[in-house]
Amino acid sequence: MFRINFAWRRYRLLLWLGLLLVAGFFATSLASYMVSRDLVRQTLVDQSLPLTGDTIYSEIQRDVLRPTFISSLMANDTFVRDWILSGEQDVSQIARYLKEVKEKYGTISSFLVSNRTGNYYHAEGLLKKVREDETRDIWFYRVRDMEEDYEMNVDPDLANKDTITIFINYRIYDYQGNFIGATGVGLTLDTLSRIISSMQERFGRRIFFVDDKGNILVSGQGAGAHFGSLHDWPGLAQIAPQILNHQSQPTQLLYQRDGQSVVVSSRYIPELKWHLIVEQDEAPEFLPLQRVFWLNLLVSAAITLLVMWVILYTVNRFRRRLEEMAATDSLTRLLNRQAFGFVFEQAVHESGRSHKPLSALLLDIDYFKQINDTYGHGVGDQVLRRMAALFKSVLRENDIVCRWGGEEFFILLRDCSREDALVLAQKLRRILASQPLLPTHPQLQVTFSLGLVEHRGGETLAQLFDRADKALYQAKSAGRDRIEVA
Ligand code: GH3
Ligand code: MG
Ligand code: MG
Repeated sequence: MFRINFAWRRYRLLLWLGLLLVAGFFATSLASYMVSRDLVRQTLVDQSLPLTGDTIYSEIQRDVLRPTFISSLMANDTFVRDWILSGEQDVSQIARYLKEVKEKYGTISSFLVSNRTGNYYHAEGLLKKVREDETRDIWFYRVRDMEEDYEMNVDPDLANKDTITIFINYRIYDYQGNFIGATGVGLTLDTLSRIISSMQERFGRRIFFVDDKGNILVSGQGAGAHFGSLHDWPGLAQIAPQILNHQSQPTQLLYQRDGQSVVVSSRYIPELKWHLIVEQDEAPEFLPLQRVFWLNLLVSAAITLLVMWVILYTVNRFRRRLEEMAATDSLTRLLNRQAFGFVFEQAVHESGRSHKPLSALLLDIDYFKQINDTYGHGVGDQVLRRMAALFKSVLRENDIVCRWGGEEFFILLRDCSREDALVLAQKLRRILASQPLLPTHPQLQVTFSLGLVEHRGGETLAQLFDRADKALYQAKSAGRDRIEVA
């Protein structure tokens, strides 16, 4: 519990910093995602969808307006009017005329219906007679009674295996302005459908035409009455009144379908009396943005982890250095007296557990004051440093040397009996006697006095030290430069 508490306190700052970084990164990523999303939506609504509408509109103008112009020429052709007025004598003449129009302008069909006889002529000659009670012929009576000069009508073409065809039906007048028949051309919506299909595939946009009442007439799947009405589509039904507004300027709308936002651009095409609708789901457009968003978060997470690791590493290293500095003596780099207590406890515990002996040496340099006085403090310091180096070279890795104070050293020998410790102490003494400690001062002879003790079970550091100190005192009293075993 204490450990957890301690760890928590140590890492609390780091956690807060991590949280702060994560929150900051998340906020900026989210904000940039939102801004980009708005931008994408705006581009979609203001540019992409209206542009598709423009393309389709210009395609329609090429596909539909030219046939309208041709039909107008046919209705005003004096040959056509004269031929009807002169009693529709030679069918081959009008058939040739219609054939010429059809082939020259590449329309799917061309036709002429006489009001007087009800004869329906096409490129091959007389096709049939129109009848008021025939549903297929209703268009003719509508054209007969209408105010405008022409209309555009989508119907299956009897002369062309019932292909869905746009007919341009133009009224023909005699020279007094009386209605004498209807003429015009028909064209399939194949090209238009193909363009729409390719746009749908390329951009994932849905494109369709609806009439004034909202009936869907043409879509990427083709033309016909089988698509139903705007009012049948959930979501679209709600905005149908806004779509069917007869504005030739694009109208931008938004609706929900299956929980997804759909952007709509609609416009009225007066030539067809239709509305062109282009719509697209927003979600796929946002996918790349979402990918960038997640990537951002991933990079942020990596940076956060890296920053936290660097901080943790630096703080830990700093802490370790502080601990080291607190535990070691700056002159000799040996353990100091304060830190020795911990190590001693550990060593005692270990020897108790493994039943291995533990010995200690208390060592004091003889006449050190004289060395200081004769050679100066700097040389005295060097002697202390060289002594530390000597201990390190002679002792084992797990023996502990402590600078107890001044020129006194306390050495703890693990797994070492009194006899072994004595051998070691004598070895130290021999080495020190055999060569000058400082190569710069060969005449300087350093000796030490030493108190040797073996640890007894349950003995405290103070008790052990006391016994060692007494032995050392005896060594000093007996003339120095000797080892005394307690
Ligand atoms: P003995 O132990 O043989 O009785 O004589 P001693 O001259 O060594 O006597 P004592 O232990 O009283 O003297 C210790 C001297 O060590 C006194 C102090 O000035 C000197 N000393 C303590 N610490 C340092 C140190 O860090 N550097 C230097 N140069 N001298 C130190
Ligand atoms: Mg001394
Ligand atoms: Mg001393």
